[in-house]
Amino acid sequence: MIRYALVCDHAHPFEAWFGSSDAYDDQAARGLVECPFCGSHAVSKQIMAPAVAGTKTRGADPDLAARLQTMMMQAAREVRSHVEQNFDYVGDTFAREARAIHEGAAEKREIYGEATPAEVRALKEDGVPCAALPPVPVDPAKTN
Ligand SMILES: [Zn+2]
Repeated sequence: MIRYALVCDHAHPFEAWFGSSDAYDDQAARGLVECPFCGSHAVSKQIMAPAVAGTKTRGADPDLAARLQTMMMQAAREVRSHVEQNFDYVGDTFAREARAIHEGAAEKREIYGEATPAEVRALKEDGVPCAALPPVPVDPAKTN
């Protein structure tokens, strides 16, 4: 038996047991693997990254974990700098601006800024698209 961490096309994570990796491939190809949350058959294996901290490496390459973490930090920085260079910064009026743009009350443009968790929840409930930027380690020189 082999356990796979799977994810459906709605990003629901779940796990399932299969007799073998061939059994998984066969069942997935025939649409027999179903998301327990939404019933979707568009299911694929989750891409897993190794645990980076806190667990024993048990023979795993410790450099690999460090390299992956560096790559993820690098990617996060690149996403952030793209946003910072191309999007309008609106500060803590983000929720109001995002809603105004969504409702057509403000010029359509890409913005970023700060929002409270409650504001983000309200935006999502109203169908206003927004996503958190990946966190980036803070440059100590830029903190207060
Ligand atoms: Zn699902």
